[in-house]
Amino acid sequence: MGGSGLSSRLYILYRAPGIAHAVHTMAEETRWIADEMVGKLARYLRFLGYDVVYAHGMRDGQILELSRNEKRVILTRDELLATRARSLGILLRSLDVEGQLRELGRAFPSLRKEVQFTRCSLCNGRLVPADRSTPAPPKGVPLDVWTTTREVSVCPLCGHAFWEGTHTEEIRQALLRAFQG
Ligand SMILES: [Zn+2]
Repeated sequence: MGGSGLSSRLYILYRAPGIAHAVHTMAEETRWIADEMVGKLARYLRFLGYDVVYAHGMRDGQILELSRNEKRVILTRDELLATRARSLGILLRSLDVEGQLRELGRAFPSLRKEVQFTRCSLCNGRLVPADRSTPAPPKGVPLDVWTTTREVSVCPLCGHAFWEGTHTEEIRQALLRAFQG
């Protein structure tokens, strides 16, 4: 790999010109599929509100099939997979998530850059506002957070709860570093 790993060089494979552009400009928001090497990026993109399948345990053939069927852009550090994905593949060079976000931001200038509470970062479920009709907080939410924080979101699929806190602040800082660089 050499010592230039942090130079954030980006290779987009435009084997079929126009398709990546078409995906990008569709009225519908771009959806992604992240391979096993960029799992952290998948979580960050979900924090940005994107629909991201994490291809944990999936073979390349399955990833390619899902990508084609659902028009999902493949995010990968695997050169061969990116080549096979043709215009629906983005080859990322950075090893760290901030570098990967930076590369993606360059490839997709309209990439959302602010944290949203619309997707579960763990399972990609669509978040809903927590039920306020009961006094008890949802599982995993401390009582002080529940009583002081209006906006608590819950994932109906895995039950995980999300709210503004130190964790999201860390993510915001990472996003800032990624997109300012
Ligand atoms: Zn979930």
